[in-house]
Amino acid sequence: MSALPGQPDRPLRIGIVGSGPAAFYAAEACTRQRDLAVEIDLYERLPVPYGLVRHGVAPDHQKIKSVARAFEKTARDARVRWLGNVEIGGAVRHEELLEAQDQLLYATGCAGDRKLGVPGESLAGSHAATAFVGWYNGHPDYEAARFDLSCERAVVVGAGNVALDVVRMLVKRPDDLAQTDIAGHALAELRASRVREVFVVARRGAEHAAFGASELEELVELDDVALDVDPAEIARALATPAGEVPTTRRKLLLLAEAARTPRPHARRRVCFRFLRSPTAIEGRDTVESVALEVNDLVETSRGPEARGTGARESVPAGLVLRSVRYAGVPIPGVPFDDERGVIPNQLGRVVGPGGAVVPRVYCTGWIQRGPSGVIGTNKSGAQATVEAMLEDARRLAPSPPRGSRATVDELLRARGVRPVTFAEWEHLDALELAAGQRLGRVRDKLTSVSAMLRALEERSSP
Ligand code: NAP
Repeated sequence: MSALPGQPDRPLRIGIVGSGPAAFYAAEACTRQRDLAVEIDLYERLPVPYGLVRHGVAPDHQKIKSVARAFEKTARDARVRWLGNVEIGGAVRHEELLEAQDQLLYATGCAGDRKLGVPGESLAGSHAATAFVGWYNGHPDYEAARFDLSCERAVVVGAGNVALDVVRMLVKRPDDLAQTDIAGHALAELRASRVREVFVVARRGAEHAAFGASELEELVELDDVALDVDPAEIARALATPAGEVPTTRRKLLLLAEAARTPRPHARRRVCFRFLRSPTAIEGRDTVESVALEVNDLVETSRGPEARGTGARESVPAGLVLRSVRYAGVPIPGVPFDDERGVIPNQLGRVVGPGGAVVPRVYCTGWIQRGPSGVIGTNKSGAQATVEAMLEDARRLAPSPPRGSRATVDELLRARGVRPVTFAEWEHLDALELAAGQRLGRVRDKLTSVSAMLRALEERSSP
């Protein structure tokens, strides 16, 4: 029976892969269409939703996490079905899911990291900040990760907001994190941490720091943390055209003021080292020091870039966290731009290696544009991709229904996948909140897939 997709008896079947902010904003935009009947299925690799809202946003930024309430509302819409514990590109292939949906939208974010490309990067004690963030946020992929916090000094490479998040976690009083939803294992390790000093190493000047002024302010406000920065570097940065931009100026003045403020009883120290690039991570079996080269700035067609001067320094350290941007992870069967770490696309329409649009396949969020912007940035991005999807959908010819929820269920059964429903996630959510309440915390997260599935089995067994 052929019918125009988008009619009440033949809804447009939209599959969304991922369930972070970009995925939920896209689902919400789809449900707002008046003239098209839609059936939206969200597929999430983990048994829990919300992507970076749960596993990326720092535990001491609880207010930001409240955006999940809006996503919950979308998930409860009768036209929306969320399925957790389903990996597309794993147990279920892209091609077979596409057979069961009219359109497929990838909103898988950037779960990978970038390497510095220097010797010693894979020594024990050298990690991607992504791993540290996942670990303190209870991401199941990093449950078994171990960070040696028995050393006195850590080096964080990069000067973005992720770098400041990990710095704050390393220097903040654990008692001030205890009420949050930080993973229990991370809180215990941070309580025992002996890290006293954190170096933040940035390849360009202070005027180019990517972190926000309010994020810097948060660090400056920790009154038991001393800040150290070279006053000559701040003076240089203030004298540049970039240093005159009001938000940049505010950051520079904050840094200068904080570095001038004596904090004799500081428990921890954060040292900003601008115009420095790691050239090697050194040590016999584990990290012992980081070799740095001092940089100059050179103007290029891409803007000011760092260039080594040949001058060298060495910073003894036992832990290195590289925070030099996240990168997307390729999905088998879906085009991927290895250099940029994103799915190649034209306004959200996925394009193949020859530059031709791949019919019915779309992307949005970080996997579309790369790891930039804040959570809200994904809203307008998702709206734009959904507009492209619906424009294409309106041009579709009458066709028989392309799969159904029942055919997807059958496929999952055949692959031995145990999907987790949104009602089951709500059960896990209630368990975590109740466990948190008993401990005087926002929530006590389940941090492994096996623990999550076990909790669901215990619920369903008599
Ligand atoms: P980011 O803001 O792009 O910062 C990346 C940092 O890494 C920059 O300092 C960059 O320096 C440096 N870098 C990149 N490649 C490098 C290399 N090869 N060697 C040395 N340094 C290198 O990225 P992010 O910190 O990962 O954050 C991702 C996004 O999430 C951002 O939009 C951020 O604002 C957002 N976020 C927001 C919050 C918040 O709202 N509180 C918290 C976390 C993340 P150059 O400038 O020289 O390239």
